[in-house]
Amino acid sequence: TLAMAAIDKMGHIAVGTSTNGATFKIPGRVGDGPITGSSAYADDEIGACGATGDGDIMMRFLPCYQVVESMRLGMEPKLAAKDAISRIARKFPDFVGAVFAINKNGVHAGACHGWTFQYSVKVQK
Ligand code: ASP
Repeated sequence: TLAMAAIDKMGHIAVGTSTNGATFKIPGRVGDGPITGSSAYADDEIGACGATGDGDIMMRFLPCYQVVESMRLGMEPKLAAKDAISRIARKFPDFVGAVFAINKNGVHAGACHGWTFQYSVKVQK
């Protein structure tokens, strides 16, 4: 999955995902990509989150919705991302996945489980 968040000059926040799906997926599988709150979620008032990984597990937890709601309650992006990942890992220790979180001020962080994860940030003045 390739997930992306964008914050424009007006402070509007958008997210999107693109995925080729899980390896060896069965025909017709609908993964987490199109499920709001699973692979992406955004709220102009709070921030955004994008995810990648084992969508069949992640979609049960709506990790991106969780991240944004945790930030709404005051968590920094780093803690919100870690918390969302650990909620999944507690139930599925072998799960592989990651999220990035960014708040409306542009503070960002990532968290992962079962692999290494990188994300990039571009700031346009
Ligand atoms: N989340 C995707 C899926 O399970 C896979 C991926 O992140 O590459 O469909």
